[in-house]
Amino acid sequence: MNVTIALKAKIMSIKEIGCCGAYCKTCKPFNTGTCKGCKLGYDTGERDLSKARCKIKVCCIGRGYDSCADCSEIEICSVINEFYDKNGYKYGKYRQAIEFIRENGYEEFLKIADNWTNAYGKYK
Ligand code: SF4
Ligand code: SF4
Repeated sequence: MNVTIALKAKIMSIKEIGCCGAYCKTCKPFNTGTCKGCKLGYDTGERDLSKARCKIKVCCIGRGYDSCADCSEIEICSVINEFYDKNGYKYGKYRQAIEFIRENGYEEFLKIADNWTNAYGKYK
């Protein structure tokens, strides 16, 4: 793989991580093109961020971040923490994904997440 292709693949992979930590790449509608996932299409003008319903992504993409892992205010942010505190196993797993990225970076996260069959999964 040449450097440009490798870089594009990496950028594409990061775009497949939702702002909140949900991993879009495993999802069938995303892979068949019926859903653009969390982040695809905003930078090309295909989608309008002002029309997005998710407050997390409006904030995160609006600030130019790849995910909330890049945000220095994450510990005090009520938007993301109220989402993570919701009832349901997946919310804790999305929090775990963002915490993992904060500690280890996107590349290490993607190495693990590429083996998942769901929007979240196991860590070693
Ligand atoms: S809940 Fe919001 S931030 Fe998370 S993947 Fe869905 S649109 Fe993106
Ligand atoms: S302020 Fe909250 S929602 Fe916005 S980028 Fe930071 S953690 Fe995410």
